[in-house]
Amino acid sequence: MSAKKSAGGPLTSVLNWIVPPAAPVAPAGPLPERLDWVRAIPFLGMHLGCLLVLWVGWSWLALAIAAFLYALRVFTLTAFYHRYFAHRAFKTWRIVQFVFAAIGTSAVQRGPLWWAAHHRHHHTHSDDPEDLHSPRQKGIFWAHTLWFLSPRAEATNLRLIPDFARYPELRLLDRFDLAVPVLLAASLYGLGALIAWQAPELGVTGMQLLVWGFFVSTIAVYHVTYLVNSATHLVGTRRYKTKDDSRNSMIIALLTFGEGWHNNHHYYPNSTRQGFFWWEIDLSYYVLRFMSLLGLVWDLRPVPQRILHPQPRPVAEPASVATALPS
Ligand SMILES: [Zn+2]
Ligand SMILES: [Zn+2]
Repeated sequence: MSAKKSAGGPLTSVLNWIVPPAAPVAPAGPLPERLDWVRAIPFLGMHLGCLLVLWVGWSWLALAIAAFLYALRVFTLTAFYHRYFAHRAFKTWRIVQFVFAAIGTSAVQRGPLWWAAHHRHHHTHSDDPEDLHSPRQKGIFWAHTLWFLSPRAEATNLRLIPDFARYPELRLLDRFDLAVPVLLAASLYGLGALIAWQAPELGVTGMQLLVWGFFVSTIAVYHVTYLVNSATHLVGTRRYKTKDDSRNSMIIALLTFGEGWHNNHHYYPNSTRQGFFWWEIDLSYYVLRFMSLLGLVWDLRPVPQRILHPQPRPVAEPASVATALPS
């Protein structure tokens, strides 16, 4: 199936979502950059699913599971989808790579190859007309939440990520990325139903865990991730003069576990940490440091001293001083 076909009618759009093409293809040409309404329907449905909290109520267990899944998936997107798959900022075992790739797909933000390939494209074209999610080019709402629902963003451009596309298990996960979220949603419902049967006094139901653990938690993960594409190119401070509009924001760094230091990151994208100084809180980096003590990850790439403490440019010596020196 060609990329052109994938931008075809509503039926093709639905089929490509549920049964993706055997081999993801790179966009053959400039595909339309418009909202694909068929793909927007499930996205809107995820948001509407949150309203079911009015019907299912809440329990401490449901809130705890929603918070845990938020933290796990924000960490995974930040540390693995972004810093590992897109930037190769550290090394890990193949099994750890796969486990976090699978956890990442549970966030319903497509597979690791799709996510990282699009992010590499962003770094090449940050805020220029080719950038798919630049607030400067397309406005804040498009940059925040609509760009990935356009035919232009649909395919995984494997040419941008050959280093990870060589792993068949990652290609499989990338192709059938909906399998993990469906499994997560079903497991939450099943766990809730089991608890309702065994311990009804806890006030938990299958629907309640599904709504809080899947819909509410996933929507929260969605929007903090999107803030990095929208808000960190609009609000905050700029330590480094980069060609894009990237900015540093402590609030977004706290919400995203470290991604708010986006101006630092655009200036030097290869380091494992994005908070360059001790006061720039970067939770994902701290967890990765801990994982490195356990031998789960290694070779965490540091921020070079020349980036942290740029040397002032040498100033030409005044001629009068030079001539005054003894020979
Ligand atoms: Zn950016
Ligand atoms: Zn990046």
